[in-house]
Amino acid sequence: MIHAIRLFAVLLAACLLWGLSATTTHAGAYEAALPPELATAADLCALVPCAEVLPGATRFSPRKGQPPYAEGYGTGTDGKPALLGYVMLSTDITDTPAYSGKPVVTLIGMDTQGRYAGVKVLKHSEPILLLGIPESALLDFNRQYVGKSVADEIEVGQSRADEGVVGVDAISGATVTVIAQNQVLTTSGAAVARQVGILAPTQRAPASFAESGKRYSWQQLVASGAVQRLLVQPAQVGLQGGDGPFIELWFGDLNHPDIGRSVLGDAGWQGLRAQLRSAEHAIFVIRTAGAESFKGSGFVRGGIYDRVQVRQGADAFTFRDLDYLNLYGVAAEGAPTPTESAIFVIRSPGFSAAYPWKLSFLGNRVDRATGTRSFASFDAPYWLPETMLQGGRPHIDEPEAPWRKVWRKQAGAIALFVALLCAVTLVYALRDRLTRRATHKNKWPVNAFKYTAWALSIVFVGFAAMAQPSVTQVLTWFHALLLRWDWALFLSDPFIFCFWIFIIVTVLLFGRGLFCGWLCPFGSLSEAIFKLGRFLGLKRWQRQLPRRWHDRLKWVKYGVFFGLLAVSVFSMGLAEMLAEVEPFKTTFLVGIGNRAWPYGLFACTLLGLSLFIERPYCKYLCPLGAALAMPSTFRWFGLRRKVDCNHCKACAVGCGSQAIDANGRIDQRECLHCLDCMVLYTDTRGCPPLARERKRRARDGLALTPVGRDGYFFPLVPVPADAPKLSGPDPRLPTDPVAPPYAAKAGAARWITEVWDHIWPWSGEGWRSARALQVAGLAIALAATVAWALAATGQLRAGALIGWWLGWSVYEVLIRLAGRRYVKDGPWWRGRYRRATVMDMLCYVGFKNLLVGAVLFLTLKGMGILSA
Ligand code: SF4
Ligand code: SF4
Repeated sequence: MIHAIRLFAVLLAACLLWGLSATTTHAGAYEAALPPELATAADLCALVPCAEVLPGATRFSPRKGQPPYAEGYGTGTDGKPALLGYVMLSTDITDTPAYSGKPVVTLIGMDTQGRYAGVKVLKHSEPILLLGIPESALLDFNRQYVGKSVADEIEVGQSRADEGVVGVDAISGATVTVIAQNQVLTTSGAAVARQVGILAPTQRAPASFAESGKRYSWQQLVASGAVQRLLVQPAQVGLQGGDGPFIELWFGDLNHPDIGRSVLGDAGWQGLRAQLRSAEHAIFVIRTAGAESFKGSGFVRGGIYDRVQVRQGADAFTFRDLDYLNLYGVAAEGAPTPTESAIFVIRSPGFSAAYPWKLSFLGNRVDRATGTRSFASFDAPYWLPETMLQGGRPHIDEPEAPWRKVWRKQAGAIALFVALLCAVTLVYALRDRLTRRATHKNKWPVNAFKYTAWALSIVFVGFAAMAQPSVTQVLTWFHALLLRWDWALFLSDPFIFCFWIFIIVTVLLFGRGLFCGWLCPFGSLSEAIFKLGRFLGLKRWQRQLPRRWHDRLKWVKYGVFFGLLAVSVFSMGLAEMLAEVEPFKTTFLVGIGNRAWPYGLFACTLLGLSLFIERPYCKYLCPLGAALAMPSTFRWFGLRRKVDCNHCKACAVGCGSQAIDANGRIDQRECLHCLDCMVLYTDTRGCPPLARERKRRARDGLALTPVGRDGYFFPLVPVPADAPKLSGPDPRLPTDPVAPPYAAKAGAARWITEVWDHIWPWSGEGWRSARALQVAGLAIALAATVAWALAATGQLRAGALIGWWLGWSVYEVLIRLAGRRYVKDGPWWRGRYRRATVMDMLCYVGFKNLLVGAVLFLTLKGMGILSA
């Protein structure tokens, strides 16, 4: 057996290494290094292969227009040089994020008729296209656009001729990526087509101002939204934090008489009106903080102000020197003193003050880790207040966010999935009734539901909806909780989103077992294969690992999880690659036959082993299982045990998860809720203590009462004289009971001391027993405080902060084990304490500190102290 384990481990490592090397070699456009000046260089096509997206073009103009594009020239049909079309860089036009939260940098070619001539992905950060789905799938997706017109309404999905919708096929498993890519291609194409006259410019009805005749103070203008602020912090452009923001701008409309008079004074506003022609529009911009100029130091006469622009819908409006007027001060009472100011005039009739627009500050962002610079645009929205427009604000159709589209399109399947989750929860909540109907010889009252859940989770959830949760999502949640919460990111995959809500709720209520044992597609597949093996007559070869090996190997999965967590602190990309230890993508997302053979071999090995060992991957390797097992330590509702379980081994023998120890205690982290032991718990013929009592009562002619919640027949006399006495460890608690120092207190005093106990890990006992550790702890605490202060001022990178979090948590585990070695069992309000094992303490501290860290970050952010 030991040799078999070693062989398996070596095979596993070889597959992973091979897979990783294969991955690295074929990375393609994944996180490809782009020229640093790509965002700003005038000659775009000297840096990127424009000819590949505009076939036939041999010469390209410098970037022109706003948003920018390059003209491509070649030989026309008459043999003379001719304009063949236009090339644009998607990130010049839109920064629509894909699944990774970053945009897919795409080069797009369009002919003079407005047809897509070519699409080339220069860089993407989609891990799924690196590890799960071949990158060629994205290339194939892009190829569908060639020949289609920018005037077409292109959507991912079926064509609908009656509605004028042209459909393109999605990539299974990368829906969000392709919906975002569709938005990028159509938005970019339309923006350039509008500029070069292929599409008519957007017509917006001019604004009819509602005038009050009042002059407003600065405070009133800001409060009403008539003046808006654009704030950029140093961290947002990759700089070390300093004394203040990178730049702080205030801006607003000047054509509106109330705002214009308030900001410029009567005479100033009349003067401005005299200079503006009809359909011309003025805005003001002032800088009140930061050393950066919004006019740009490179501005020369006749040039363009390249640091600010106004965007309205798909249109961008830039300013030349002739569009600039001096602004000598702000007349509104209480206005700040500007350090730089300007009035800009929008001369395009396409602009209307009745509709929302944005002021964009354009700059470069420096990646502090790699030093690379990328183009960045910081926007602040503006829309005249409702009361300043006659008839109020007009209705506008905002483009639907990609995640909303996904939810709308898959509404039916999502509803079915949610129904499945609710049904399984309900069935499990009624488990007591089911297990009482079952016996050790007939488990169908339970198994009928469980097997149905397995079948649905494999076929519907795994293969059809591809909704297999993964440890990478746990890592993403972890980072998002501590650093940046983005609902759009989590909503982008509805099945996974709903699944995680289910997982979080049920793990806290029951432990990981309901998800792992009933609904995880891979776990269900693995278990189904084991049962199939039994059905096919392989039972005599089916084995459990010897207890001592099981008890060692079960820790491997926690090691894998913590390893991934630690790697993710430094590189999420590397962590995603290492997460290939999960065979989920190979099995469900891509298919074993569609991946490089090491991945296929790895998945097949695990599934093949499942014929002989029950769920080998779940028990020993799964980092997701480990991540869910940790909070399971604090599940509210555990499985029942009776006093006699500590010497009767009947349940333990039948537990496929080997979750019941020699004392009859259930390890909630390992239990997969098969409910076999619960069937036995009330089975008057299968459970030895119950069978004995049944026989005794039958022999003595006594009545057989029902079995109570404690797992025994109801006593026959009011005083439970025949209730069994506890001798040996209490199997109803995972470890021995312990009373914390504050257990005797009551009311508010109890609450206060308990909260303090969670915050303050040190104790007199710990101090006496581990003084050196305590001193080290104080030093770490001090360092952690400094780290928080640095973070608050934007001077510390997020990774370092998470590193501190991990370091502090490890220390807290050690110090609590030395002095406060107890955890609460079950619901927090019940106050059942027990001795903590190392794993209990790790779970408690890890979970608590994650919550504390998240609350701290949100508080700092809410106070505006933390910007990153
Ligand atoms: S341990 Fe992993 S593979 Fe097994 S059921 Fe749980 S999440 Fe699924
Ligand atoms: S037999 Fe009991 S302890 Fe073992 S996995 Fe099933 S429910 Fe959990």
